[in-house]
Amino acid sequence: AKKAPARKTTAKKTAEAAAPVAEAAAPVAETAAPAAETPTVIDVRNPGTGEVVGSVPVVSADEVAAKVRELRLFQPEWEAIGPDGRKEWLLKFQDWLIDNTDTLADVVQSETGKPRVDSLIDPAFATDLVGYYARRAAKFLADDHPSPHSPLARVKKLTTAYKPYPVVGVITPWNFPLAMPALDVFPALAAGAAVILKPSEVTPLSALEMARGWAEIGAPPIFAVVTGAGATGGAVVANADYIQFTGSTATGRKIAVACAERMVPYSLELGGKDPAIVLADADLDRAAHGIAFGGMFNSGQVCISVERVYVEAPVYDEFVAKLTANVKALRQGIDGRESKHDVGALANENQANIVQRHVDEAVAAGARVLTGGKRAGFGTAFEPTVLVDVDHTMSCVTEETFGPTLPVMKVADEAEAVRLANDSIYGLSASVWTGDKERGERVARQLNAGAVNINDVFANLFSFALPMGGWGQSGTGARWGGADGVRKYCRQQAITTPILPTQEKELFWFPYQMPKLL
Ligand code: NAD
Repeated sequence: AKKAPARKTTAKKTAEAAAPVAEAAAPVAETAAPAAETPTVIDVRNPGTGEVVGSVPVVSADEVAAKVRELRLFQPEWEAIGPDGRKEWLLKFQDWLIDNTDTLADVVQSETGKPRVDSLIDPAFATDLVGYYARRAAKFLADDHPSPHSPLARVKKLTTAYKPYPVVGVITPWNFPLAMPALDVFPALAAGAAVILKPSEVTPLSALEMARGWAEIGAPPIFAVVTGAGATGGAVVANADYIQFTGSTATGRKIAVACAERMVPYSLELGGKDPAIVLADADLDRAAHGIAFGGMFNSGQVCISVERVYVEAPVYDEFVAKLTANVKALRQGIDGRESKHDVGALANENQANIVQRHVDEAVAAGARVLTGGKRAGFGTAFEPTVLVDVDHTMSCVTEETFGPTLPVMKVADEAEAVRLANDSIYGLSASVWTGDKERGERVARQLNAGAVNINDVFANLFSFALPMGGWGQSGTGARWGGADGVRKYCRQQAITTPILPTQEKELFWFPYQMPKLL
């Protein structure tokens, strides 16, 4: 068992730790009553059953501003305990996540309609990630001492120090209600920042569980969750010192503009339209299996889902037959605590409508549906779908679908596959399927994508040491992963310290004289 961190002066403040959460769970009484037409509560539904599974308050802009002010008060102490002190709390939170995995999966499942296994991935991912940053933050945040580049610089000790932003604002989407917040909340906390998290209004309950856990372990009140829709997110953008946004490209653009007005730094993780390239020398069984998973996992609602498939002509027919068989075999439905299905519902009606539109527009333009193509008959669910005879004039190939569709195209050769894969405004990730790993790496380097997996999907997302982030309209700013993933929540400070006090005065100050060192 890990030693509980010393409470020191945080004891009284710790008692208040639950307050931010409690405030998030119930509108604050002293703020002015909102206008009659402004919703004050959002109902959360299981999209697979339509059942209301919870409700959360719409936190007002004033409440968000007050919360950020409060976090600012507690942050210096969090920074002062250093990476090792914070590690103790983060590992304690990791224990809490492990102890509460089933409950957390229940909440994820209830607000997303995911299969049981997929719901367990959220807490498992968060658990792994918090441990990664808890254990490595001290190393990642240690001062750097770059080597001096000239005799002049040699008279100084050069130091790059990392000082956290006081309050980091994290705004997240609904596809992984625990894993998405985890990707930024934990590295930001490990950096020494306080964090205000605004989860998606579609799936806010999992994030509130995180806040509950943070309070339950008695950690300092430097993490708060505020619920609501775009206006609440806008208030976070208006008050925090660094904004990390994960969501659609359209919203990301608005956030970039708002941050520019305030001169506040930001990172954006946005939409994608990830290609898979199947070369003629690929293991077709593995490719068909992996691409079916890459397209249908989480009903295709993963930023790095496979959304387009390019297959070399000689193996096209065989691959399409194998892929279709794999997709047809998927079991779709709503799980209880037992895992019985591979694919569940979509997050909401809006998503189902986008998927249907993309399929209908493709079919109207000459595409063929080999399997799926319609609603699954319960909640928002859409059948896993394979489309052929598609091209780059169709919305199912050019726009992000974020649903269970795999449009497949035949290409003459590797060069055409690369050209078409790069014909997109997005550049999040890609996969290359080949029997020749060197060829795979060569093709990878020609792709406009922030990550490329050879003969696999999603592998980069579970490799925390790698940078993860999109090119083009898939994102901008600092990346997730590795040292950058925690340093991005810090301002760099350059410090010069005299090594040779008398000589450096002669070098740089009036009156000018010939440097004696040279
Ligand atoms: P969204 O852009 O609609 O919403 C994301 C979040 O932003 C929500 O919390 C929402 O309330 C908030 N928001 C909306 N308007 C805002 C505003 N004006 N100011 C501040 N906050 C605002 O996205 P979504 O529909 O929840 O999620 C799906 C999208 O997320 C897809 O495009 C998907 O590709 C993307 N995504 C990207 C990654 C990645 O790593 N690049 C990961 C997951 C999801």
